[in-house]
Amino acid sequence: MMYPEEAYLMLSGIQHFAFCERQWAIIHIEQQWAENYWTTAGKLMHKKAHDEGAFEKRGNLLTVRGLRISSRELGLSGQCDIVEFHEDEAGVNLFGYEGNWKPVPVEYKHGKPKEHNADELQLCAQAICLEEMFQTEIPDGYLYYGENRRRSHVVFTDELRTEVKNMSRKMHDLFKRGYTPNVKPTKQCKSCSLENLCVPKLQKGMKVREYMEKYLKMND
Ligand code: SF4
Repeated sequence: MMYPEEAYLMLSGIQHFAFCERQWAIIHIEQQWAENYWTTAGKLMHKKAHDEGAFEKRGNLLTVRGLRISSRELGLSGQCDIVEFHEDEAGVNLFGYEGNWKPVPVEYKHGKPKEHNADELQLCAQAICLEEMFQTEIPDGYLYYGENRRRSHVVFTDELRTEVKNMSRKMHDLFKRGYTPNVKPTKQCKSCSLENLCVPKLQKGMKVREYMEKYLKMND
């Protein structure tokens, strides 16, 4: 299935969805958001990655910051922190630049590599967008973690690609139905930026919006 542009969802939602489907629905369907230290710090880091000039060419490496991307197949759109284009015979043509260039997405993350694969899934979704836009194959990319200041190599395996595609289909299905799934609270709720909004007690079936309305009435 190919999604029309007006149905595109935010690509960055992939990482929320992978972390917790309920978190994704609160942010992207119910549009609630609670800032905490982690999300604020993460945003500042992204701002840095996006701000520092759009193009930079050093020898056989062209760096593009903040490139807008989308995929009809995934029905997702967003922005890459950085796409490196390496001069390579097997690469693609770029307007205004001689030779062929191989795109490699690089995503900046606050903190350190995580136990779950949400960051890898987001990066893979970016690669699928870039593949569709440049009609090429992108076998790998990098995650850069602020805490250890290291790049982590990510190979876009068939399994990772399938997970991204299944996830985007599920996101579109939930979005269409306007449904916020209930999930079991886990230890990761402690690091969730929405913990105070979601409140694991809500697992009894109440939507966050209903909870907020009830809470406000009680404190009127
Ligand atoms: S508090 Fe827990 S259940 Fe609620 S959105 Fe966050 S991770 Fe999901």
